[in-house]
Amino acid sequence: MHRIQTDRMRFILSQISTMMIAGAVALTPGAMAQATDAGFGPGNPFYAPSTLPFHAPPFDKITAADYQPAIEAGIRQKVEETQAIADNPAEPTFENTFVAMEKSGRLIDRVMNVFNGVTGANMNPALQKVQDAEAPQLAAMDDAVHLNAKLFQRVSKIYEQRHALHLDAESLRLVEYDYQQFVLAGARLDEADKSALKKINEEEANLSTAFISKLLAATRDAAFVTADKQALAGLNDAQLAAAAQAARDRKVDGWVLSLQNTTQQPELESLTRRATRQALYADSWNRAERGGPNDTREIIARLAQLRAQKAKLLGYPNYAAWKLADQMAKTPETALKFMDAMVSAATAKAQGEGKEIQAIIDAQKGGFKLEPSDWNFYSEQVRKAKFDLDEAQTRPYFELNNVLQNGVFYAAHELYGISFKRRTDIPVYNPDVQVYEVSDADGKPLALWYCDYFKRDNKNGGAWMEEFVGPAKLLGTLPVVYNVANFTKPAAGEPALISFSDVTTIFHEFGHALHGIFADTEYPSLSGTSVPRDFVEFPSQFNEHWASYPAVFAHYAKHYKTGAPMPAELAEKIRKAATFNQGYMLTELLAAAELDMQWHTLGPDAPLQNPDAFETAALTKTHLLLSAVPPRYRSSYFMHIWGNDYAAGYYAYLWCEMLDDDAFQWFEDHGGLTRANGDRFRQMILSRGNTEDLARMYAAWLGAEPNIGPMLKARGLEPAKSSR
Ligand SMILES: [Zn+2]
Repeated sequence: MHRIQTDRMRFILSQISTMMIAGAVALTPGAMAQATDAGFGPGNPFYAPSTLPFHAPPFDKITAADYQPAIEAGIRQKVEETQAIADNPAEPTFENTFVAMEKSGRLIDRVMNVFNGVTGANMNPALQKVQDAEAPQLAAMDDAVHLNAKLFQRVSKIYEQRHALHLDAESLRLVEYDYQQFVLAGARLDEADKSALKKINEEEANLSTAFISKLLAATRDAAFVTADKQALAGLNDAQLAAAAQAARDRKVDGWVLSLQNTTQQPELESLTRRATRQALYADSWNRAERGGPNDTREIIARLAQLRAQKAKLLGYPNYAAWKLADQMAKTPETALKFMDAMVSAATAKAQGEGKEIQAIIDAQKGGFKLEPSDWNFYSEQVRKAKFDLDEAQTRPYFELNNVLQNGVFYAAHELYGISFKRRTDIPVYNPDVQVYEVSDADGKPLALWYCDYFKRDNKNGGAWMEEFVGPAKLLGTLPVVYNVANFTKPAAGEPALISFSDVTTIFHEFGHALHGIFADTEYPSLSGTSVPRDFVEFPSQFNEHWASYPAVFAHYAKHYKTGAPMPAELAEKIRKAATFNQGYMLTELLAAAELDMQWHTLGPDAPLQNPDAFETAALTKTHLLLSAVPPRYRSSYFMHIWGNDYAAGYYAYLWCEMLDDDAFQWFEDHGGLTRANGDRFRQMILSRGNTEDLARMYAAWLGAEPNIGPMLKARGLEPAKSSR
């Protein structure tokens, strides 16, 4: 359960603050009008809202050629509508400004929701071409909205009068939220500062791009290469074959172990020769610090400095303060305090695990002190002795369709009263996709839900949830949401027998889906999963808990042939496995999250840092410098924070975990799987999107502030003294 999810969520709104990216094409209504409308008319399936139930996408009519003209027309429409709102000669009102903005861009939303879905799950060269061609236009469209000074004047005016306007709570939230997004993007700056910001954003984007390409090259170059097969003793045939293939691909003799992005490497748990483990580990640890053109240290030092300067320009003491302003945690101090409170429990547990490993090393007369490169090799022995779980034994109890019907749907029915009916009349983009109609307890139609679970060559990796139609009362739309995953497709006629980790993924993604399905809000911007990063994984991770909840587990974990329940000792092994190696895993996550936060709380006047010295000091200061437990990512190869959009945001994984374990504890304390509990959670959390300050929303539901105790307990850790 406690693993870093590979899913991704796309949020238009949460990205606004980072939208002022370099190289965007300038779009003005004048320039737009010159563009041609060729190819876009009533014959295009995106021209008007779909007439299918729930406005479901007409996949039976959409062809690859329909997207580009619809996207281009949609961008034009959105820019013109925005300009019309900004140019409105009437005094600004909530209706003619905020509501008008919420109503704008119907066409671009309609087409992009579908386009994002098919490019993620069913890509082809024609779609790829459209994506490459339209990316800069889409970025420019966002700039045309959020850097529109006239529009911001109207927004500001309403914002200043907001308390005198007698707005309802959700409308007030919309005003405050939109205003904040404009301000975070730099709308309040004067022209000189705006151009300074633009320069910083450009340099930041360029450095970030350079970091990505250097790190990719560095990671490739640092792969472990050997011509000595004996050095690879311990690897199984499949691993050896992959290593031989990697060598052939690179045109070198022998075997190549390519690196994955984390510090630890998968082969380290099986390589029996210690010298090989040490060499592979060193390759991983030093990959981006070997001097030469792909050393990333200079870039990250400059990026950290630049981001601090950007924060100062925008009126914040450091980058993390700017980045967290619209998050649930709100300030870096809150996130740091949260992490600090877990350090002693995590490191104590990790040290205990280390002692257990050292005892094995000593018993085997190893004659050395445990190093990071040894950890996985010996912890695998601990796992086999104490937590061994044979997937071949468990898979027959996890037949995909049964897990869905009798596990996922069952739990949702018990908690929320909803039911599911397969719809074979709704068109899909691939025959693997299934569609269900979701109905409320009183029979009222709630949503359409699609699932697309099997791996395909033209599908992105991982698992995710998104929407084809975003729900909003203002627009009269109900949710049309989908889940995608990458499970192995069985041969025709065979059942899909999945692992417990796959089961957890289904529950996880369905938790996101419920957040969309239950959305009951007026405005699309504040609806469903349109919430900050440190909240969005809460409903999904919370839903994972039901996968192992005894009454739910017993309802679905049945042998696919005989229908017999899973033997109790096997079920117990699954439950116990969740606490294996948790001290190590939490410590490596905390170390990475602390590094992220320490880098991004540097002040604007701090000099360029030496990354190695900075990293050691940061880990020492936070009591996370453990000789055998390195951070999950070293600063020099921390892609999330320098290359992707997770700067000052890596803590969010742990933060959401605190929320989901804490919330589940509340359920346990109040009778567990009951309609009363489910309905209350739906009403106070799942249906509410981002319509209230999320810390307040959560506290109102729980009756208290979030507590880290249940999270530590779930990981098998002793709560630290500083927790409640
Ligand atoms: Zn997720």
